[in-house]
Amino acid sequence: MNSRNDRSNKTDRNNRDCGNGECSRSDRIGRDNKGRGNDECGGNDRIGEKKNRDREAAASGRAAKDRLQRAGERLLNVLYPPRCVLCDEVLRRGEHGCCRDCLAALPRIRGPVCMKCGGPAENERAEYCENCRTQEHWFDRGAAAFTYTGAMRQAVRRMKFSNRRDYIPFFAESMAQALERWLPVWRPELILPVPMHPARRRRRGYNQAELLAERIGRMTGIPVRKDLLCCTRAVKQQKELGRRERLRNLRGSFGVQGAFPKGSRILLVDDVCTTGSTLDEISRVLRAHGADRLFFIVLCTGKGKKTVCTDNKMW
Ligand SMILES: [Zn+2]
Ligand SMILES: [Zn+2]
Repeated sequence: MNSRNDRSNKTDRNNRDCGNGECSRSDRIGRDNKGRGNDECGGNDRIGEKKNRDREAAASGRAAKDRLQRAGERLLNVLYPPRCVLCDEVLRRGEHGCCRDCLAALPRIRGPVCMKCGGPAENERAEYCENCRTQEHWFDRGAAAFTYTGAMRQAVRRMKFSNRRDYIPFFAESMAQALERWLPVWRPELILPVPMHPARRRRRGYNQAELLAERIGRMTGIPVRKDLLCCTRAVKQQKELGRRERLRNLRGSFGVQGAFPKGSRILLVDDVCTTGSTLDEISRVLRAHGADRLFFIVLCTGKGKKTVCTDNKMW
């Protein structure tokens, strides 16, 4: 009986304290200790108001940043008008990334594709390309936006070696389009760009795979981690090497830094895939660190063995 009275007395006191019973006892003790007990429920209100203010400040900060970014882009467009990725002529009104004259020349991958690397397959009946028929890969599946042919080769070289980062938005959009049909199937949880050796990155000033990955991450809502993979050894030029030599050349070039999320589904992003050796080597390393599924998206893919080793790719 006494204990029930005690409880009811406490309840009465609680109700008197805050009037609506929403304040917890620990809240009250906390406030009393800080000497602010006379403003019984104001604590929660104040916290709520502060959160609202913080949210509003963050939103207005984002809006200001967006406005600045748009103003910056407009200024850049005046100083450096956007040009066609293929012919490099200034784009006309209504054109985006590629001029009307070049649209038909964009080597988009259409028709049957290899069920492994996503490159063009020889015909409808061929499940795999020649490359994937003759060798095993460490990755599960891949896709590409374009073939690495004609004017596209020159465009990629300009993006990599002539600081043409203005091509990135159009290229990333093309990659996101190529990914569209696969994302619901692959369900990647993380995007990892293929890393570049720090010394090379310093010389070039950027890693095009990272820039593409960041854009694709924003478009798809998949988190991008640039810190997980690292290139630990400068890779010798591979263009004269066959696949086996390329793989040997790449061994020990990539590592994982920090805690790798085991059992994760990874989407690798790179600009060009010719033999798939780099993506294979990274997939091998990530599997050893507990990755569950490994997919990739590249801007351009070679056409299997016939185009092997023609790339002047540098890591
Ligand atoms: Zn053009
Ligand atoms: Zn293939």
